[in-house]
Amino acid sequence: MKNRLLSLIVILVAIALGVSVVDIRKEQVTSQVTSQQSSQTTADNTCSTENATDIKIINNTMLTGTAPRAPEDEPDNTITNDTNSEASYIVCIDPGHQAIANYEHERIGPNTSEMKIKVSQGTKGVHTQTMEYELNLQASILLKELLEEKGIKVLMTRTTNEVNISNKERAEIANNFGADLFVRIHADGASNQSIRGAHVLIPDESHPTPGVYSASKKAAMILLEHLDGEGIHLLSSPLSKRSDISGFNWSEVPVFLLEMGFMTNPEEDKMMSDFLYQRKLMNITADAIEEFLMKDEVVEETSP
Ligand SMILES: [Zn+2]
Repeated sequence: MKNRLLSLIVILVAIALGVSVVDIRKEQVTSQVTSQQSSQTTADNTCSTENATDIKIINNTMLTGTAPRAPEDEPDNTITNDTNSEASYIVCIDPGHQAIANYEHERIGPNTSEMKIKVSQGTKGVHTQTMEYELNLQASILLKELLEEKGIKVLMTRTTNEVNISNKERAEIANNFGADLFVRIHADGASNQSIRGAHVLIPDESHPTPGVYSASKKAAMILLEHLDGEGIHLLSSPLSKRSDISGFNWSEVPVFLLEMGFMTNPEEDKMMSDFLYQRKLMNITADAIEEFLMKDEVVEETSP
């Protein structure tokens, strides 16, 4: 009898302990999930708050279109395809320049006192008379659509030409939203009209954020390979490393700038304004971006 009572007590204690262990585990899991959710919320809030205070015009052009909860039928909704939200990548596209240049100055990077104008107007098509900022936006919208078709989330720094966003602020937009890649779309200009060809710019080895140089180079190499493979005319040295570009130095995420071609070359100017050529270029760019993102073995190198 004593033995049976004793074993009953042992069983009851064991059950009680078992239950409490399970409870503790459940609590741990719940608190992990909660802390992940709250850090996500914090990150989102941080973006909105910072943009709201620092970048007034973005409120009109970007945030209305980029709020993750914005309904899909909004015309300039810049984040869509939210179906596989956990797994999908975020690409921030920056259509270069804007309708009215801002000649105020800003520091070209976090570790320098060197200053540069906030944002220029860009070049102009010698044949089409198209302004670079218009062409960049057209191509960027195409690229956005093509990336979204691949299930990649896209954030635009601007969706109209009438904005006032400095190059530093454009990089901060990519940073704040934790973009996996910051893609800057431009077209080039030169005094010699015979110069033509697409080319890609990336930060150089002195970039202040560890890993940004190597990942940017990787993305640029993939893009150049795709462009070359599809027969796009490239500049003779199609990859330039630059330490003097504000939109690179302030970026804390991998970044490249595609110069689609030269608007000062009449033929290339005409080609770039051709919808089918534009679409071809952006298709190639979208494929290259996808390949870069899927290669998630990007090594975080601290030195070149
Ligand atoms: Zn440009």
